[in-house]
Amino acid sequence: MSKIIAIANQKGGVGKTTSAINLAASFAALEYNCLVVDADPQANSTSGLGLDSKEKRYSIYHTMIEDIDPKEVIVQTQYDYLDVIPSHIDLVGAEVEMIDIEEREIRMKKALNNLRDAYDFIIIDCSPSLGLITVNALTAADSVLVPVQCEYYAMEGLGKLLSTIKIIQSRLNPQLVIEGILLTMYDVRLRLSNQVVEEVNTHFKEIVFKTIIPRNIRLSEAPSFGIPVIAHDAESKGAVSYLNLAQEIIDNNQMHK
Ligand code: ADP
Ligand code: MG
Repeated sequence: MSKIIAIANQKGGVGKTTSAINLAASFAALEYNCLVVDADPQANSTSGLGLDSKEKRYSIYHTMIEDIDPKEVIVQTQYDYLDVIPSHIDLVGAEVEMIDIEEREIRMKKALNNLRDAYDFIIIDCSPSLGLITVNALTAADSVLVPVQCEYYAMEGLGKLLSTIKIIQSRLNPQLVIEGILLTMYDVRLRLSNQVVEEVNTHFKEIVFKTIIPRNIRLSEAPSFGIPVIAHDAESKGAVSYLNLAQEIIDNNQMHK
């Protein structure tokens, strides 16, 4: 069984990319075969996994627009069980190119379905928008993980995101479920952080992950070395929390290797 998880929130800077890289690296550390699909032209998860994001390579967009075989766009990382489909800043115009093509919302789904046999988890790192590429990601996915930053305006835009998910469920992907809301950048010392945890739990009780990701310097340093936090400092709170999240998702889904 394989599971495709889209990490989405149209708000920027909430921890989508950090979660994509480190959740995937945690699954890999637990020996689950994992693929990260970088669906953001900013290419932060591409560079965060050690690839030169300026190098021209095939990307997920090539499978969607030019019908390139998805197997040809996969790049291996330096870690066992962890591959990536990279992105590139040039792809910022790809969304516009897709407007006229047929079946434009289900292109990513078709590409990724061909890869299900090869992976236990496919993690899609979405861009901070609800545009056509994100619609493709939500249509391709089995579930969506929504990071919410423990900061001011944490819940801002969540209503819009949830109504977009409802539209996708009714028109394009009835199977789509919410994997969970993930509280990120939590600071135990801040009253605000604790208020956000309380507020999100009050509104969304059943769908909030038990694991909370703390604000942790190692998590913010790791991308500058092009490595996941687990390779930067495996003992850090950041590394441990993403391993806990991976285990929580494995348990929730009763995933077996
Ligand atoms: P998004 O992909 O949603 O835009 P990022 O994952 O890139 O968000 O995170 C935004 C910034 O916050 C980045 O500089 C990242 O390193 C930092 N960051 C994310 N999560 C944490 C965390 N738990 N602790 C400390 N810094 C974090
Ligand atoms: Mg990002």
